[in-house]
Amino acid sequence: MRCRQSRPYSERWEALLLVMLAAGLFGCGSKPGELLQFGGPTMGTTYTVKVVGAPAGITSQTLQAEVDRVLALVNRQISTYDKDSELSRLNQNQSTDWISVSSDLLAVIEEGQRVSQLSGGAFDITVGPLVNLWGFGPEVKQDEIPADEAITQAMARVGYQRIHTRAAPPAIKKERADMYIDLSALGEGYGADKVAEYLDSLGMANYMVAVAGAIRVKGRNAKDTPWSIAIEEPTPGRRAVHRIMQITDAGLSTSGDYRNFFEKDGKRYSHEIDPKTGRPIQHQLASATVISKPAMHADALATALMVVGSEQGFQLAEAQQLAVFFIVKTSDGFKELKTSAFAQYLAQ
Ligand code: FAD
Repeated sequence: MRCRQSRPYSERWEALLLVMLAAGLFGCGSKPGELLQFGGPTMGTTYTVKVVGAPAGITSQTLQAEVDRVLALVNRQISTYDKDSELSRLNQNQSTDWISVSSDLLAVIEEGQRVSQLSGGAFDITVGPLVNLWGFGPEVKQDEIPADEAITQAMARVGYQRIHTRAAPPAIKKERADMYIDLSALGEGYGADKVAEYLDSLGMANYMVAVAGAIRVKGRNAKDTPWSIAIEEPTPGRRAVHRIMQITDAGLSTSGDYRNFFEKDGKRYSHEIDPKTGRPIQHQLASATVISKPAMHADALATALMVVGSEQGFQLAEAQQLAVFFIVKTSDGFKELKTSAFAQYLAQ
């Protein structure tokens, strides 16, 4: 099955509708506070913002204009799909000396490095050459399985330990000039965090921000209850709610192998790449949902756990007291695994 569109607008918009539907089913109705909501395209996907009880005089239009500006800046900083972005220029730079970067880009790279340490290298932002080789990067390629030789060559350019960061002045050093950093695994979470930061600066007390599957929530919804967010059923080509969570004052992200993949000879090759094998993951974990703050951390952790798999991932998550919900494929459907820190969030 070819399910590696580049996650067309409609595909992602539906995903977010699921978030809105859940919030709507469980979140709208009589409204003590006025509900403002809007959304639009970003990062090749879509975003949604819901604000309850905004201060008088603030309209969806004024908020959206600024949110679009915030997200456009994030794209100009960390997109590998924009050849002129700050990250693309860092990847094109063939120096192995310190390369000056913005403090924003440094912060996202440092977050990626932290999750690499925590996951024993399962998460690795330098995995870009493999992501691109398997056709999940900016250049959409045919559904081809790369030759072993090409995988070995790409793996030689991967290794988070060979990226060094410097806080002051902010800079990055690549041990190999041809290293290529890919921040797609935590960029949506970073975008949600930056929008949340903007809403906080206006004194907003109640909001939900979703950039694709990366979410930030604060305060209460229009019905004065915690925000209700759906965990999607991880079935390719289908949009269905698997579970509803009720959360507030947190970040959340779900990663999975059921949206961005191709199939060859009955085998699924998804965009979650194991840096140790140079190949897409081959275990039965279909999705991992992480509740953590900031959303960038939840986003990176969700990808890391997808690479690690359900057994090791569950042990890692419990050891780190992380709130994680795993959905595992079995011969007769799905099995759920939730860490002790997660149970409180599932709506009864
Ligand atoms: P996640 O699980 O959150 O991330 C998976 C992605 O992380 C993979 O696609 C790969 O890039 C990377 N990855 C894979 N394995 C690992 C690993 N072991 N460690 C670390 N990272 C790994 N997409 C478009 O089609 N068009 C665009 O214009 C576009 N612009 C973007 C701009 C920005 C700023 C960002 C951050 C992303 C953009 N994307 C674009 C990509 C898209 O938005 C998603 O980021 C991407 O599909 C991954 O998000 P996800 O939630 O699907 O999967």
